[in-house]
Amino acid sequence: MPNEFDFIAWIRAQSPATAAVPIPPGDDLAVLKWDPADLLLVGIDQVLDGVHFDSQLHSPRDIGLKAMNRNLSDCAAMACLPAAAVVSVALPKGSGVDYPRELYKGLRTAADPFDCAIVGGDTASWSGKLAMSVTILGRSAGIAPVTRSGARPGDTLYVTGPLGGSLLGRHMRFSPRVTLARELASRARITAMIDLSDGLARDLGHICKESGVGAIVDADRVPIHDDARTLAGRDKIGPLTHALGDGEDYELLLTSPEDLSRCGGIPIGTITADQKIQLRTTTRLAPLTVRGWEHSL
Ligand SMILES: [Mg+2]
Repeated sequence: MPNEFDFIAWIRAQSPATAAVPIPPGDDLAVLKWDPADLLLVGIDQVLDGVHFDSQLHSPRDIGLKAMNRNLSDCAAMACLPAAAVVSVALPKGSGVDYPRELYKGLRTAADPFDCAIVGGDTASWSGKLAMSVTILGRSAGIAPVTRSGARPGDTLYVTGPLGGSLLGRHMRFSPRVTLARELASRARITAMIDLSDGLARDLGHICKESGVGAIVDADRVPIHDDARTLAGRDKIGPLTHALGDGEDYELLLTSPEDLSRCGGIPIGTITADQKIQLRTTTRLAPLTVRGWEHSL
């Protein structure tokens, strides 16, 4: 990009030194102060134009917001605190000066509430479409990381909010459940957790596979988002099918032997020893099939 050095200078001006980042961005590597009691959790997630967003439809601020929030949601999934992030951006040639600044502001809008510093990054221009990759560093901060593999028969299955229809807009603007995850994990025994990015049916499949268990989901307990009903009215696919199959809700799916209904958990089913994933309606018990989510915008 023509003004790359100006852009870097501008980012440096937005990034003062802090206790957690004693040397602000500007050197070859970022420098972080790390509590020796903390485990370091690391993840990476990319967003691509035409797959996770559409640059013709979505503002650069919303694109940056989504890129960071997806990573923060992964922190929520493991009940860790986001600590810092590094970002790589491939910009289409001719993006100008304001566009990458808006992307950065979107990233910061998501990260700042968690004091998650953007401590480094890389930008380049090319003949392709916009692509952004965020690497997140999380810290355990007194709570053992919650994995996907600890669900046990008899545990209750919970979600943290209504599901389905996120493609109407929520997939770009959502609140990662970091604080709720930390509250749940500090108050109760959470045996497994995942954030709902691929849809309830698929993500439940991940928990069941990793834990070596099955599950029964009660159809009438699955909270259905108004967006799922709106979409169902258009495409004639039922609202429950949207709630079970649509991706990018970014709520949490978790299991616990305890009653979490007073602290943000909505019970939707039970973990079973039988390794089948089933949906229970008033009339029958049937395999929970994945309608699939194809990353379409
Ligand atoms: Mg995830």
